[in-house]
Amino acid sequence: MGASAVIRIALLIIAAGAGAAQQIAFEPASQDVIEQRVRAFTTKNATRETALHKLFEDAGCAGEALTEQPFKGSSEPNLICTHRGERDSTIVVGAHFDLVERGQGVVDNWSGAALLPSLYQGLVSTPRAHTFVFVAFAGEEKGLLGSRAYTKRIEDRSRIRAMVNLDTLGLSDTKVWASHADPELVNWIGVAAGNMKLPIGAVNVDKVGSSDSESFRDLRIPAITIHSLTQDTLRILHSPQDKMEALHLEEYYRSYRLILGYLAILDQKLE
Ligand SMILES: [Zn+2]
Repeated sequence: MGASAVIRIALLIIAAGAGAAQQIAFEPASQDVIEQRVRAFTTKNATRETALHKLFEDAGCAGEALTEQPFKGSSEPNLICTHRGERDSTIVVGAHFDLVERGQGVVDNWSGAALLPSLYQGLVSTPRAHTFVFVAFAGEEKGLLGSRAYTKRIEDRSRIRAMVNLDTLGLSDTKVWASHADPELVNWIGVAAGNMKLPIGAVNVDKVGSSDSESFRDLRIPAITIHSLTQDTLRILHSPQDKMEALHLEEYYRSYRLILGYLAILDQKLE
């Protein structure tokens, strides 16, 4: 669906002792594909997991790589897509797929969940050092149930180098919840935005609620939540206004590309 090409960015950062530009490679899905996948939303929790399962398979994550994690308190399981890297060190990329059935829940948070398969797709064409685990969480709106269940079952938390959480994208250009993020992870998304010439901002949402990154922060795992909320758009959350029409597709696609480049950078820069 639309030819895609490998993007290589020369990372122009002068890290301590290393002045040479580094090649970071990734292969973004086209804007058409990203739009099609976000339009594939359903408005019931029960059917969302099935829809997402299909998107993962379309993106090439299938068979043993795609597993379900049922847990108490939710009829839907977490959906987990694993891409093995050279190391056991892991980067978790998460987004909840459940919704408050007052609107369509496209913004909160099909926008984030539907990007997971495309992020997987954009990363796997190049060998990666880290193992990437893409987790679509159930039960977030009931109190972070899916991410709590997931973190409870982590065997060795020291293996998880970072958790990148996507919640509520496409209302504006990319924002980070800086006050609840690991400073190093914030720094690297700034570097990604600078190198890719894409916008990034910080909007703290402490007063609005919570998100799945908090379950990881509670275990002292470095985490970051990426969103698109601003003062003007807070009212959309959990309201009938949370629908497809609220999404800005240009901004949404820019967020996808930025997050993809960011993950490729983290793969090279994190231990
Ligand atoms: Zn949410």
